Amino acid sequence: MLKIGCHLSISKGFYEMGKEAVSINANTIQFFTRNPRGGAAKEIDEEDVQKFKELAKENKIENLLAHAPYTLNAAAAKPELRNFAKETMIDDLKKMEYFPGNMYNFHPGSHVGQGVEVGTEYIIEMLNDIIKPEQTTKVLLETMAGKGSEIGRNFEEIKNIIDKIDLKDHIGVCLDTCHIFDGGYDIVNKLDEVIEEFDQIIGLDKLYAIHLNDSMNECNSHKDRHAKIGEGNIGLEALVKVINHPKLKDLPFFLETPNDLEGYGKEIKILRDNYKN
Ligand code: FE
Ligand code: FE
Ligand code: ZN
Repeated sequence: MLKIGCHLSISKGFYEMGKEAVSINANTIQFFTRNPRGGAAKEIDEEDVQKFKELAKENKIENLLAHAPYTLNAAAAKPELRNFAKETMIDDLKKMEYFPGNMYNFHPGSHVGQGVEVGTEYIIEMLNDIIKPEQTTKVLLETMAGKGSEIGRNFEEIKNIIDKIDLKDHIGVCLDTCHIFDGGYDIVNKLDEVIEEFDQIIGLDKLYAIHLNDSMNECNSHKDRHAKIGEGNIGLEALVKVINHPKLKDLPFFLETPNDLEGYGKEIKILRDNYKN
């Protein structure tokens, strides 16, 4: 069975979010841990979490991916911004233990002119501070489009971070199809080669999740604007190959396409109809 879902909001609580997922036949869910522009997270309502868990179990929703606010920058030049990223992630990871065995994804960061090496060192330092041996949550580095001074613009930059993480069992990668396409990986014409390259550099054993998005821009544009499935330059055919690829087909997929709930439901249906078990 294809593991697919989309980005949903927890603003009305986990249970309501779960009901939305069920209504569109999603069996994975991504959500922001808090307002994506930063700010305080709501306290966990244990009753809401319990109701959600029962609903998730009944409906076989098995993969949760929490997404850190995209404004966090673990590679920032200002110590107070790096510290804010770290404190936020510590708090998010603590909350994720209400949902043991799931995943937490973040954008590695932007070096803001300090250079990739300096930024990378800050990211490594933060991860080694926050990843604890007892945690059950996988922390995922998202592959980025290379907009501005984003770190994680190619597989090598992700590998350089992972190489220096002490507790490697707790770290992995979330591959975003729009981001890698914009980053210069031609998944339309060379999907096998791109997957092979990922395996050679990072290792497919480190790949835990896929953000399935089309792209409004060209390959190698370094732009990062998501399009609806089949309405961008990657196209439906190539994305169907991604979900059916023997090395990817069992991973959880998460749509981050510009859609309302109904639009997500349509995309999930199209992808399920095109999935070969
Ligand atoms: Fe992201
Ligand atoms: Fe993404
Ligand atoms: Zn994006």
